[in-house]
Amino acid sequence: MDECLFCGIVRGEVPCDAVYEDEALLAFRDINPQADRHVLIIPKRHLDGLCGLEGVEDSLLARLLRAAALVAKKEGIDKSGFRLVSNCGPDACQSVPHLHFHVLGGRPLSGQMG
Ligand code: AMP
Repeated sequence: MDECLFCGIVRGEVPCDAVYEDEALLAFRDINPQADRHVLIIPKRHLDGLCGLEGVEDSLLARLLRAAALVAKKEGIDKSGFRLVSNCGPDACQSVPHLHFHVLGGRPLSGQMG
């Protein structure tokens, strides 16, 4: 997946504003923030999205979810609240085909989900 933008970020070829990293995950600020705090969490290994998880170990998926709470704490929004979103496919407007979770917060978010 050489042409994948987020794989390029993982390899350090595309710059990012990282907020958290470990051996399996990277979290960085969204380039076009939709909230006062908007961080993307990705697995370093390429996965297309939520519909490409067959055979993926549960431990990686658990780490991604746990990282959301960690990132929220680092961003100072764990108490005020945040939203975790993963867009999957065209109807959800997924624009980067590398699994990612949006952590959004820092202001009261809309009650509308769609
Ligand atoms: P989605 O539309 O759910 O696939 O989310 C992809 C997100 O990646 C969007 O919110 C974009 O603003 C964000 N994005 C695209 N390119 C970059 C980049 N180079 N650095 C950080 N965020 C990016």
